[in-house]
Amino acid sequence: MQLWDFHTHQSGKECAIFNHLAPFSWTSSPCSMGIHPWYLDLHWEQKLIQIQAASQTSDQVVAIGEAGFDRIKGPEISLQKGAFYAQARWASALDIPLILHCVKGHDLLLEYLKSEKNPPAIIWHGWNQKPELAKQLLSFPVYFSFGKHLLQEHSNATEWLKGCPIDRLFFETDDSGLEIDSIYRAASLILRLPVEKLARQAVFNWNTISKRKIR
Ligand SMILES: [Zn+2]
Repeated sequence: MQLWDFHTHQSGKECAIFNHLAPFSWTSSPCSMGIHPWYLDLHWEQKLIQIQAASQTSDQVVAIGEAGFDRIKGPEISLQKGAFYAQARWASALDIPLILHCVKGHDLLLEYLKSEKNPPAIIWHGWNQKPELAKQLLSFPVYFSFGKHLLQEHSNATEWLKGCPIDRLFFETDDSGLEIDSIYRAASLILRLPVEKLARQAVFNWNTISKRKIR
């Protein structure tokens, strides 16, 4: 049984979408490429050109990101918005998802979603926000990737997993150093569904929203 890890910073794992940071170049294994708000500066447009070149020639770039908003550790919001909107447009052009990093930027995401007629599928990674916030996003193509917070009994992530539509979920290790099977096992206990069912569902979800398929 393949347990896909939809967002990780550990390279060399099988069945994983490795988050590739600069330099952005051709790649032979599944990855995402994007400009993280932490590493955003005035030269972001040059980085975007590299990302566009690499992702156009390699269909192993299966997502754009992580990209998004961070009010704690990012540069000024106007810069973050410019870079996010451009990356979202590119994800939409390739018909692949965007992996979202979002810290205290829920309103910025909603503002984007309300203003954009053709947004890409957006996967909010490391989801650990209140279920009420998640519900506000369900009328948009927003998906939720669950990670280490599922290992805490009463976390927001655990609460939302119980209410999250099954066609909106993904699983990840991010930078936790955990193995992905511990995340699937936690989700399996919370939802009382077999790990195999969750694994199949997550792959199905991916292949529903992305032109670049996984197996
Ligand atoms: Zn990450």
